[in-house]
Amino acid sequence: MKDLNFYNLARNNIQSLHAYIAKEIPCKIKLDANESPYCPIPLKSIFSKEDLFSTLNRYPDPEAKELKKAIAKDLRITPESILLGNGSDEIINCLITTFGGPVLHPIPTFVMYAIASQALGQSHMAIPLDSAFDLDIESILKSIKKIKPKLIFLSSPNNPTGNCFSSEKIFKIIDTSKNIVIIDEAYQPFSSQKGFLPLLKDYHNIAILRTFSKIGLAAIRTGFLIGHEDLIKEVNKTRLPYNINAISQAIAIEGIKNKKIINSHIKVIIKERKRLYGELSNLKGVQPFPSEANFILFKVSDAELVYKKLIEYGVLLRNLNTIVKDALRVTIGTPEENNIFIQSLKLTLDSINS
Ligand code: PMP
Repeated sequence: MKDLNFYNLARNNIQSLHAYIAKEIPCKIKLDANESPYCPIPLKSIFSKEDLFSTLNRYPDPEAKELKKAIAKDLRITPESILLGNGSDEIINCLITTFGGPVLHPIPTFVMYAIASQALGQSHMAIPLDSAFDLDIESILKSIKKIKPKLIFLSSPNNPTGNCFSSEKIFKIIDTSKNIVIIDEAYQPFSSQKGFLPLLKDYHNIAILRTFSKIGLAAIRTGFLIGHEDLIKEVNKTRLPYNINAISQAIAIEGIKNKKIINSHIKVIIKERKRLYGELSNLKGVQPFPSEANFILFKVSDAELVYKKLIEYGVLLRNLNTIVKDALRVTIGTPEENNIFIQSLKLTLDSINS
């Protein structure tokens, strides 16, 4: 039988799409994916859940009611204002499937807003950040008037730049947009700013994305959207059945119970971020950018070479050179991991400069 050409069979918007690549490069020190270096749940509290493991033949609760209840209690919101996703990635997909484009987002930012728009055949517009990595408000407001985006995605703190956008500018966008503004607060727990949750009751055109991934539970792929109940009802129509598996539901609930442990880990990460920023600032030829997240973006003179040399030392960062020239992103690890990273970076820069 003649071989099928699957590339030609794919829809046009898929042919020109590049898959999201989460490269797996084995390294001792993994500081590339903005994960937490700490797991907040003792193993025994999971494996003692007999009722969970004795019902693995059954589908999970399709509405994840207990988990929604736990999140609602924790954040003082209603369960009906929550939509759970297999990671916030899935919710980004559901939002664009539900409301369609045009989608508007700044750039550089989290790549899934663009990838999901293209995969779903929806137009999207990327507006470059200004030189301080803040929103270019004039261009955004102009574009809102011109293309009337159905959805605007604002990641604050922003990945990969690490800063929060000016809240005044975010308010201007919310006030100007006739449609929906999604504030992606994946990194909010690490930020000194309050975030937009308290504003949900006054603004019906905003919704907030949160995730368990950055606070120690990336493996369970659980994120959630918080918004007006009518908005959640519409997006829920495009959610796949049973999208949160039973083990993830149980572990996420356990995570909320262990909030104190999560918060203590966040404190250590924030302290380490400050220390690492200081260390990076003291290195000749390194320009770190202030961060409100669990990572730091920094520039070096030859990002490709530094990235490769660090891998030789067993330290994996994210190479962002093609997105922000000369930039690498380091996730905050444990104090020990951060020490090894700094030592390896010093040796790398010495070897390049000698
Ligand atoms: N939003 C932002 C801003 C992110 O950086 C990420 C992860 N890189 C996500 C959402 C997706 O997170 P999740 O693991 O919940 O899919």
